[in-house]
Formats: sequence, structure tokens, C-alpha cells
Amino acid sequence: MNLLIMGLPGAGKGTQAAKIVEKFGLVHISTGDMFRAAIANQTELGLSAKSYMDKGDLVPDEVTNGIVKERLAQEDIKEKGFLLDGYPRTLDQAEVLTAILKELELQLDAVVNIEIASDKLVERLSGRIINRKTGETFHKVFNPPADYSEEDYYQREDDKPEAVKRRLDVNIAQGQPIIEYYRAKGLVHDIEGDQDIDLVFEAIDKVLSNLK
Ligand code: ADP
Ligand code: ADP
Repeated sequence: MNLLIMGLPGAGKGTQAAKIVEKFGLVHISTGDMFRAAIANQTELGLSAKSYMDKGDLVPDEVTNGIVKERLAQEDIKEKGFLLDGYPRTLDQAEVLTAILKELELQLDAVVNIEIASDKLVERLSGRIINRKTGETFHKVFNPPADYSEEDYYQREDDKPEAVKRRLDVNIAQGQPIIEYYRAKGLVHDIEGDQDIDLVFEAIDKVLSNLK
């Protein structure tokens, strides 16, 4: 099964992606996670992505398309299937992805679109915390980890107020045409994102279980 998960920053893509790949055995490809890993390892890719990410802007398409293509071409993808999270984020990326999939002889089965009003997202992003060791995402109020401590959890640089506003603006403007692109292909499944994490997953699970 080959899937995309879409939604504005804070909609719950990463949270649901972790559950989906666990249940269905897919390879999780998160462009945001790939960029953050590159920054942590101070690679050339990390250096070029950092200035965009810190401001809440998108990393240029040539860079992003390149890392996605490289990852999708690896052996495990054909065997296990993939879940792309945080990509595509521009119409250009969506069109490039169609070409990459064609070249690799892969087919997209569904687009999971998590819907939530943008005024709910600021509180989601401002409370987001990540476990330093496992990389797992939690929320200070909505999904607190049992073992919370200041040392073991951190906040993303781009979850601070200045970048959050910019990210929402950028993603609202760029996101709609992408959903329309996939709607025209009949692939989009809308999921209500403003409900408990487990209920969101139940709704996604129902859709995906019917696909198989
Ligand atoms: P969120 O989970 O909050 O939606 P991500 O982790 O997906 O955020 O992305 C964080 C940042 O990484 C984005 O603001 C952007 O700078 C960069 N990024 C991630 N995916 C893409 C992409 N497909 N195209 C361009 N930039 C991206
Ligand atoms: P995205 O990857 O779309 O940016 P995340 O999965 O990182 O979103 O979720 C953003 C924040 O909101 C995290 O702190 C997460 O724990 C929390 N969160 C995710 N889903 C829900 C939900 N259904 N209800 C409340 N909080 C949620």
C-alpha cells in the first residue's frame, strides 16, 4: 500500500503516520524528519535547509524532490509500501512525484487528508514536545508523556510563535491546489482531525482497511 498523508502543520500527520506505519508495516518517509536529521548531522543538505525551516518557509523544490526520489528508489519501498508525510507541499512537488512514481513503477493508493480549522493549530504547535531519544511527538496538554522532564523533551525551533504564523500562511496558500490535484484523481479521503488521537486513527484505519 502506497499512501500520502496531508494536512496543515499541527493537523496530526506525524502522530497518525506513526500509528499507520506500525499497523500496516509501511516505510514512513517524512521530509521534515529527513531535514531535521540532516541539520542535526550538519550535512550539506542540513545546512541548505536550515535557514528556510527556521523562518517557516519551504525548502526549495529541487532539494526536496531530490531527497524524496532518492528514498523512494531504495529496495524496501517496493516490498513494504510507503507513507509520505509532509510531501508534496507544492503543486510542482505533486507533479514531480507523479513522474517519480511512474518512473519507479509505483502506484499511489490513497491520500489521507486530515482536516482541521487553522485556528486550532497554534495551540497544537505551541504545546508540541519531542522526545530527544526516541523522536516521538507528544503534546504538553493534549497528549502528555508519562515521563515528562525538561531535559528529555524539546520544542522545535519552528514551533515558536514567529515561525508558526509564517508556516500556517505558507501551507494554507500552497495546500489547497494539491488536494484538488489528488481529488481529481479520486484518491482523497477526508478525515475529521478535530477529535481525540485514537478516534482520528479509527477513522483512518477504517478507510485503509477497506482499500486492501
Ligand atoms: P509539520 O509537521 O509541522 O507540518 P514538517 O516537519 O513536515 O512540519 O516540516 C517542517 C519544515 O520542513 C517545513 O516548514 C519546511 O521548512 C520543511 N519541509 C518539510 N517538508 C517539506 C516539503 N515537502 N517541501 C519544502 N519544505 C519542506
Ligand atoms: P503534524 O505532523 O501534522 O504537524 P503532529 O502529529 O506533530 O502534527 O501533531 C501536532 C501536535 O498536536 C503534537 O503536539 C501532537 O501531540 C498533538 N496532536 C496530534 N493529534 C492530536 C489530536 N487529535 N488532538 C489533540 N492533539 C493532537
